Amino acid sequence: MSLVTLSGIVTRYANYKDNDRMLTILTEQGSIGAAARGCRRPNSQLLPCSELFVYGEFVLFEKQGKYSVNACDVRESFYPLRQDMDRFYAAAHMLEVANGLAEDGANCGELLRLLYYALTYTAYTDNHPMDMAVVFTAKSLAAMGYTPSITRCACCGDDLRGLPRMGFEPRAGGAVCGGCMAPDSLKITPLSLEALRRMLNLAAEDMRKVVLPQQVREELRRVMLDYSEHVLERKLRSLAQLNNN
Ligand SMILES: [Zn+2]
Repeated sequence: MSLVTLSGIVTRYANYKDNDRMLTILTEQGSIGAAARGCRRPNSQLLPCSELFVYGEFVLFEKQGKYSVNACDVRESFYPLRQDMDRFYAAAHMLEVANGLAEDGANCGELLRLLYYALTYTAYTDNHPMDMAVVFTAKSLAAMGYTPSITRCACCGDDLRGLPRMGFEPRAGGAVCGGCMAPDSLKITPLSLEALRRMLNLAAEDMRKVVLPQQVREELRRVMLDYSEHVLERKLRSLAQLNNN
């Protein structure tokens, strides 16, 4: 039996027995499951750290490859996310994406940084929650090796810059030229593609600079949702709940 200390964010939990909860914690080394025993008792010291979004330093017991939470120093609870439905659903979408991406990655340092800043700006600034969900999705997919093709057609390789008409094909891995578009390709204007290009070049701590015009926000919401569902091979449910206005 040994003790380890890890910084991370609670990205999922499942209740079990009467008072226990299994936490999924995103750390730099990937996602780990840790049992928080007794955390649902009103006076439990583990109560504050056993909620979604909590960022803290977790002291874990490890025994035969299984972890349980011994103590936690909560650094940030992102409390405003629980008081506003739009902020909550945007942040819940970020957790869904992070959980999917962390499954096949042990090297999650950048993903954890992106999630920390995206939750911070969604909770504590006037940035539109959808803008934060879109920029987090784009940047976290790119950080884990799924950068969408945005300067060249994902099918034929032609330069997309200066073209008046283009689309987005999640299955092809990015934007496509007019000649390669299918009837059901997603709509994307040159303005939205340029916004996506700029997002991918931003540092994690600069994500709050993203302020999208309404039409761009709507296009990129659709594009990034479909692209992330394709990459992660699952339906993501939270973003559909989020008011786009
Ligand atoms: Zn093409």
